[in-house]
Amino acid sequence: MNNLKLTGKKPGNVRSVVEVGGVRMGEEFVVIAGPCSVESEDQTIRTAVAIREAGAKMLRGGAFKPRTSPYAFQGLGLKGLKILDKARRETGLPIVTEVVDTRDVSWVGEYADVLQIGARNMQNFSLLREAGKSGRPILLKRGMYSTLEEWLNCAEYILAEGNDKVILCERGIRTFETFTRNTLDLSMIPAVHAESHLPIYVDPSHGTGLLYMIEPMSLAAVAAGADGLEIEVHIDPKTALSDKDQQMRPEDFARFMKKVEELRAFISERSADVAASGPASGAAAPRDTFADATD
Ligand code: PEP
Ligand code: MN
Repeated sequence: MNNLKLTGKKPGNVRSVVEVGGVRMGEEFVVIAGPCSVESEDQTIRTAVAIREAGAKMLRGGAFKPRTSPYAFQGLGLKGLKILDKARRETGLPIVTEVVDTRDVSWVGEYADVLQIGARNMQNFSLLREAGKSGRPILLKRGMYSTLEEWLNCAEYILAEGNDKVILCERGIRTFETFTRNTLDLSMIPAVHAESHLPIYVDPSHGTGLLYMIEPMSLAAVAAGADGLEIEVHIDPKTALSDKDQQMRPEDFARFMKKVEELRAFISERSADVAASGPASGAAAPRDTFADATD
């Protein structure tokens, strides 16, 4: 992959940190959580309060939904963004929300702390260029039919516009397996760390589509070195207007977060032991920080 001028590995393996509202993505482990779609103020704010109490550091929620059917719920649009803004003011959590249209990037960017570009738009090159020009942090999901090289080249489009604030998110790909919604490709975690300096997050909610798989796949992602997770949580999943089968209840999310924290504590204790018993193997990787000027 020697055509990656900006997203490829840096000398000394320096890794990028994207700073968003005091959260250092790529350095601290971050869980982004929240509903698939913003449906109402009550649903969003109650979910936001619950995920913050459980330890999530950012709130997700779609106001523009890229749906398979044009007749399915498409999101609340501007009204949804205003609800997210209120949730941010009430909880202090930075907002991650999807943008689906080139024409919307700049004004959606005024509400979002992080703009998400979804799997279906990963190779929408004009959207990528606009996202780059906006200067906002971008969470770039892997396209469902994309290779690592194609994905990194899409990130390259954003960086080529002068925007270094890109976070990648593995969310599963289409394979012959239909039991899971997608095949979550956790091998992308070490692959991205080997080929690029960008942070790599994992979304096991869309990656599996099955509630009971979200915890084991998240723990596997943590063990494989993921920089963060994106998890769908809804105050009352059975009434959700989209993805009702994969959204966690807040009480289950709180239990889930404890397990993630326990595994992370175990891993960092073990790596501290290894570092203490040998030569500088446990030294933290060097980092370059890219802060959002508008924060
Ligand atoms: C989402 O996170 O809301 C979403 C639609 O995800 P993806 O683009 O990965 O399908
Ligand atoms: Mn969803």
